[in-house]
Amino acid sequence: MQLPRDVVIGHGSLSHVPSVCSDLRLGRSALVVTGIHTGDLAGQKVVSLLLESYEVRTFVAETISMKIIREAEKAARDVDFLVGVGGGRVIDTAKIASFNTDRQFISVPTAASHDGIASARASVPMEEGSASLEAHPPIAIVADTEIIARAPHRLLAAGCADIVSNYTACLDWELAHRLRNEPVSEYAIALSRMTAELLMKNARTIRPGQEESAWFVIKALVSSGVAMSIAGSSRPGSGGEHKFGHALERIAPGKALHGEACGIGTIITMYLHGGDWREIRNALQQVGAPTTPEELGIPDGTAVDALLMAKDIRPERFTILDMGLSRESAEHLIGMLYEE
Ligand SMILES: [Zn+2]
Repeated sequence: MQLPRDVVIGHGSLSHVPSVCSDLRLGRSALVVTGIHTGDLAGQKVVSLLLESYEVRTFVAETISMKIIREAEKAARDVDFLVGVGGGRVIDTAKIASFNTDRQFISVPTAASHDGIASARASVPMEEGSASLEAHPPIAIVADTEIIARAPHRLLAAGCADIVSNYTACLDWELAHRLRNEPVSEYAIALSRMTAELLMKNARTIRPGQEESAWFVIKALVSSGVAMSIAGSSRPGSGGEHKFGHALERIAPGKALHGEACGIGTIITMYLHGGDWREIRNALQQVGAPTTPEELGIPDGTAVDALLMAKDIRPERFTILDMGLSRESAEHLIGMLYEE
């Protein structure tokens, strides 16, 4: 199991980045990977804080692509460790570049939009859609709630939906265990499920612009990431609802955030598992996440296609969507999302 060693979450915690680096004895030189907007927001501040005791280079990743990752790797070879300051794409770029160059990286998220801020996996856009790559988890996570609370609420709501999806991911994993004899980790399942339960219980308290909300969601995302580290795979955080999410990203690119698409998938697969899908839907509504394709500007027919396509994404990962879904039932499932 590879786990993060230091996790710092709180108001103004950005200022702890240098002390975390020295605690972990990561070396003398750092590459700060950041975005354009997130660079203004936090990246430049981290650079100036680190400059007091480290040699620092900056790499601005405008977006994520294999080409940009290769460039980041080239820059990473000249330093001892990496610091990713930004949203999901920046963190994933730093994660893959550090993994491929055998260096540690620190995750400094500026939003709480998905569990990649603490996990070993990274998603990279490929020609045939995004691919999830195995990398390593961050050696440390520094999450400044002041910055995260100021990010658009849509991002935090998507992060909540990504946590809620742990429920169905665990059900799918248990199903694969019963039907396919796939090994499961009870510890990983218990932690992943507890994280989703705590979030559901506190869904009403998740509010825009509140540091307490940012703090709560970040802790849950870190704990989801740890569950995946314990499992040694993304199984406890990614099942059929994620396959639906990936399919939707593929056929309606740029419409839904990762967590938003997976949240809608969670309502659907929870229904298929015979669970309380209305409770999932209520929780998503409470945190402000979408529960229908319409809210994302996606036609229902496209969502039906995504649902039918989902089982072919990572086909080796068995889920409830492999149990024989017809077009007719897919249409019914999408229609169900609009039920009063
Ligand atoms: Zn996810």
